[in-house]
Amino acid sequence: MTIGIMGAMTEEISSIVANMKITAREVIADREFISGSFNGQKCVTVFSRWGKVASAITATILFDHFHVASIIFSGVAGSVSDDITIGDIVISHKLYQHDMNAEPLFKKFMIPLRDKIDFIPDETLTNIALASAEKFVLDLQKPTHQLHSALSKFDITQPKALTRCIASGDQFVTKALSHEIVANRADTAAVEMEGAAVAQVCDEFDKPFVIIRTISDNANEQAPIDFMAFVTEIAKNYTLGILTGITDALNRELKRAEKGCILSKPRTN
Ligand code: SAH
Repeated sequence: MTIGIMGAMTEEISSIVANMKITAREVIADREFISGSFNGQKCVTVFSRWGKVASAITATILFDHFHVASIIFSGVAGSVSDDITIGDIVISHKLYQHDMNAEPLFKKFMIPLRDKIDFIPDETLTNIALASAEKFVLDLQKPTHQLHSALSKFDITQPKALTRCIASGDQFVTKALSHEIVANRADTAAVEMEGAAVAQVCDEFDKPFVIIRTISDNANEQAPIDFMAFVTEIAKNYTLGILTGITDALNRELKRAEKGCILSKPRTN
């Protein structure tokens, strides 16, 4: 089983690729797809590119050309929830496209022809990602952790991992838009620009996925400033740590399930 690993930042992709055994590199539609294995898991790793269309194209190629069995997506996001802040990790509980609105033909946010608003990630992948992220943030608390000084620079003291609703759209969200998004849907916890588009591709190909987002900003006017430094100093290390934990767990699961693919069903509740 080959997994597709998508990263929304080139820095994240570099940290994964540096730890891969690479068997091939192929450029399709200006994207470089790197095949091989990461921590014992066969994978194809690729930079998603930014925004819904670009990331949907990348995900489509992963399924249609590389025949990956599932997609694990990692990136950064803004928080629109009071209890989630910079350094926390949000794993997708569900995702929707906050800029999709074909009213009056369809209900607000409804994806035409899919007859749904929310995309639901795979339950097994979600649980594995959450467990890995929880262990990662626990390890971060150790004063000897290599990220300790970087974390204090960003005032990250007690980072946490949780599963929440993520909204995606083709805007970098700052204050005014974040208020509008939450006013429309109070369950929104994090905002970004790719997750629900990749989720739609996975849904249309009927493949399991999970979206993992490290919070880089609080979706306000400070966001673009926090954002750049955070990605280079923190986010790429989060991605590497969480992906290592996920692939450890997948290796264990796959050994147990001799038949192979156990990741097949979206959550039902
Ligand atoms: N680094 C780029 C910009 C990246 S686009 C540059 O040099 O200009 C922004 C990325 O961060 C996307 O992957 C998006 O999903 C995520 N993101 C982080 N905070 C966000 C926010 N507040 N609103 C929307 N997307 C955000």
